[in-house]
Amino acid sequence: MTTAAAIAAASRSLLDLTLAELEGDFAASGLSPTHAWTLWRALYADLSPNLARAPEVLPPLRRWLAAQVGDGRRFFIDAPDKTADIASADGLTRKFLFQLADGQTIETVLMGFKGRHTACLSTQAGCAMGCVFCATGQMGFVRHLRPGEIVAQVRQAQLALRADGHDGLRNLVLMGMGEPLHNYDAVMTALEIITDRRGLNIGPGRITISTVGVVPGILRLATEKRPYHLAVSLHGATEAERAALVPASRRWPLAELMAACRTYFAETRRRIFFEWTLIAGANDSPAQAGRLATLLAGLDAHVNLIPLNPTGGYAGTATQTGAAKAFQKVLLAAGIPSTIRQRRGIDVAAGCGQLRADKLPAKAK
Ligand code: SAH
Ligand code: SF4
Repeated sequence: MTTAAAIAAASRSLLDLTLAELEGDFAASGLSPTHAWTLWRALYADLSPNLARAPEVLPPLRRWLAAQVGDGRRFFIDAPDKTADIASADGLTRKFLFQLADGQTIETVLMGFKGRHTACLSTQAGCAMGCVFCATGQMGFVRHLRPGEIVAQVRQAQLALRADGHDGLRNLVLMGMGEPLHNYDAVMTALEIITDRRGLNIGPGRITISTVGVVPGILRLATEKRPYHLAVSLHGATEAERAALVPASRRWPLAELMAACRTYFAETRRRIFFEWTLIAGANDSPAQAGRLATLLAGLDAHVNLIPLNPTGGYAGTATQTGAAKAFQKVLLAAGIPSTIRQRRGIDVAAGCGQLRADKLPAKAK
């Protein structure tokens, strides 16, 4: 390894650090925590484009920045390169394609409705879970994202909203590329940074983690009493039907997944969202709706029905509105609320499951 590569490898993103870690680093350098708070505000509340020039940055902090942050120094700041920024025809959805420092590409989607904006974040480049109808699953796993690469997506979304004169983000959903609970530690650190009240300040009650059903991750969320909403992607109410769509069901079978959901509910008393991609002739019959209702009995459940969005690697088609409504009616008769999700951003391939990098990145070694 060359010296430059060794230094680069030792360098860490400032955006990987929680405020407590930043304070600890400042204390070790003999700097007062007030400088850490100033830096935190500049990064996450003011979204300052040039930290060293920000008026609130006093000389000791300016010296620290000059010595510690930059090429070959201890820290760098994730600044993903926005290689595409595409708006849907209805203007309600915007998709950003970001190139990361190592050339991998990820997507972040911004959805706006009545002045309220939700960002859909990626947590991995690619995904290892292989759901047959999902564009990210079709591309395979490339690598986990670091906390800073997740946090940077929120900063970029906030900057884009601010540039357009909008209020800041209201909600976050971890429903972009990747499986958040397969990258548990990085995702939890990122959420700690994102929810910090002195910075980005997005309340935990406005954040939803969506999982394909990684049982150990669901149990950890419950044990650790994480304050976020949980959404579980089901798509099938029998093991055979689910496993045909979601290969991860062989690793964490449906019975174990539902047991984990019941434990989660017992521990948190929080409503669980269940996602169900509606695929014509595959999982959209009234009988299948009935089996789903039986599966969810006794839980505080809300079902999100998502008509399939097209992807290159899967031939299925979306359930038509009439059949979707009939499915919903069966759930309702069993006392289970549900929503048929609007098909947003299809024209820019920003709908659920279409988040696939335009160019296939090389597989991680
Ligand atoms: N990995 C997590 C979060 C990302 S996927 C998960 O699977 O939950 C977010 C949601 O989009 C999931 O419910 C997923 O099943 C759904 N989805 C994936 N591909 C889709 C497609 N082509 N059409 C509709 N929904 C899709
Ligand atoms: Fe991964 Fe979620 Fe896509 Fe399945 S649906 S392949 S878990 S991103």
